[in-house]
Amino acid sequence: MRTSAEYLADLKRLKPNVYVGGARVGRDDPRIVPGVRVMSTTFELAKDPKWQSLLTARSHLTGQAVNRFTHVPQNAYDLMQKQKMIRLLAQRVGGCIQRCMGMDGIIALSVVTKEMDDRYGTQYNRRFLEYLRFYQEHDLAAACAQTDMKGDRAKRPSEQADPDAYVHIVDVGDKGIFVRGAKLSITMVAYADEMIVVPTRALREDDKDYAVAFALPADWDNVHLITRPVFVRERQMIKCPYAELGGSDSVVVFDNAFVPWERVFMCGEWEFGRRLALLFADSHRHSYSGCKPAVSDILCGAACLVAEANDIEKASHVREKLSEFAGAAELSYAAGIASAIYGEKTSSGTFFPNSIYANVGRRLTGESIFREYNLLVEIAGGLLVTLPYEDDFNAAETEAYLKKYIVRNPKIPPETAHRIWRFVENLAASSVSAWSQIAGVHGGGSPIMETIALNAQYDYESKKNIAKYLAGIDKELDQSRDLEREPVPPSSLMRGTMAPDG
Ligand SMILES: Cc1cc2nc3c(=O)[nH]c(=O)nc-3n(C[C@H](O)[C@H](O)[C@H](O)COP(=O)(O)OP(=O)(O)OC[C@H]3O[C@@H](n4cnc5c(N)ncnc54)[C@H](O)[C@@H]3O)c2cc1C
Repeated sequence: MRTSAEYLADLKRLKPNVYVGGARVGRDDPRIVPGVRVMSTTFELAKDPKWQSLLTARSHLTGQAVNRFTHVPQNAYDLMQKQKMIRLLAQRVGGCIQRCMGMDGIIALSVVTKEMDDRYGTQYNRRFLEYLRFYQEHDLAAACAQTDMKGDRAKRPSEQADPDAYVHIVDVGDKGIFVRGAKLSITMVAYADEMIVVPTRALREDDKDYAVAFALPADWDNVHLITRPVFVRERQMIKCPYAELGGSDSVVVFDNAFVPWERVFMCGEWEFGRRLALLFADSHRHSYSGCKPAVSDILCGAACLVAEANDIEKASHVREKLSEFAGAAELSYAAGIASAIYGEKTSSGTFFPNSIYANVGRRLTGESIFREYNLLVEIAGGLLVTLPYEDDFNAAETEAYLKKYIVRNPKIPPETAHRIWRFVENLAASSVSAWSQIAGVHGGGSPIMETIALNAQYDYESKKNIAKYLAGIDKELDQSRDLEREPVPPSSLMRGTMAPDG
């Protein structure tokens, strides 16, 4: 496993293909660095004895200890550890831990490559497993590029006026394929080692050229990363971890980029486009049942702190609001656990989360995100957007006024009060807040996507049958399907269990 210093050294070696604000920049650009710090945490803590058992796993390919972000879950315990790791890390980095993108990408590829081989006799799974071995041995961090630019949303890929609206195959040669198009909103690719590219939607036969999945190094020839970093205003005096962290999203342009065969994992199998798109989305929605509770935890903690600063901690309306955070965080977390214990062993051996629980959990959090920010804002009052700049707290003419008036609760010293308000400003009234809110709605698929996933899979008929029985329309109630559904046995929830049956 790499140290964070090794990750940074590898990042330095990447060719400059990142563009920010009209110029090509290095991966050490100060606007990119807050995201690099988030990524570094995933390497640092994997080496920390206190965190090691959570952040590492045993590779099912090599038997070696690997960073859990490179591991493909083999049982329900692995899924639950993944979720727990994401929650705890997201708390530490103040929100999105970002590295789960690549993890969900490899999980999806591990399943679909086997299913395609089973159907067509192709060799994708062997190829993928070789890539996974390389990925684990080098402890790589990958972005997952799924979302296409999409063009006219009412048209399918092959119906678009511009054929490049979705990433597609433009040529197939002896050594590999050439691809063109662009992916949108791709988090962390500006400081990733690799990118995993998968289709964004169901495809038809006419869309065959759009059925393409592959992995490339992040600095590959003819790949351009047009990047929008997100970070809070730099602190001068009252430094804090939150203000040092951030992220970035990129438009990833593939301008006739060459992909060698050993890195191609789908090439024209349009019948599996939907399956791969959903595998990534569902695995990622399960990841959200780790990170979104952490966002609620952070908002809840900030609400407690600012309530103390206002000396209203015990007010009944505050207590009621705090309990809403608890509900949002823990229901979503519980959905993730249910998704793990009702997960299933796929033909590839990968243990995959239950899609219904992953989708209901994700939809709940997508719908509650603005409500949660609203709760914090209500408790805080308006000061979080009207707080004078940091410098004014240290300027000769204004310092004494601000240190006197920033104190509301007399038990809190002026610097602590200032820190609380500055943190709440950063958290709820900055460009990072807007990012977090919109990521909360759309990341991993907009709420409508969860609705579509649920409507495709949820057994409404069995619910109707319950009503028919209770209403006396049917004499019998058939519950055999519900009885057949079993959670995984407790033995497979024990640490280190690698039971082949999951
Ligand atoms: C902060 C952030 C980070 C992200 N990170 C990543 C990442 O790392 N990797 C990645 O691949 N993606 C990422 N995404 C993208 C995310 O998955 C998408 O934003 C999400 O899936 C919605 O897609 P979209 O933004 O293209 O919106 P659209 O799909 O265009 O949706 C916009 C609206 O159009 C509606 N709509 C769409 N099609 C139709 C239709 N045919 N008929 C009627 N209505 C329609 C939708 O319901 C929605 O209301 C990220 C997004 C955000 C906000």
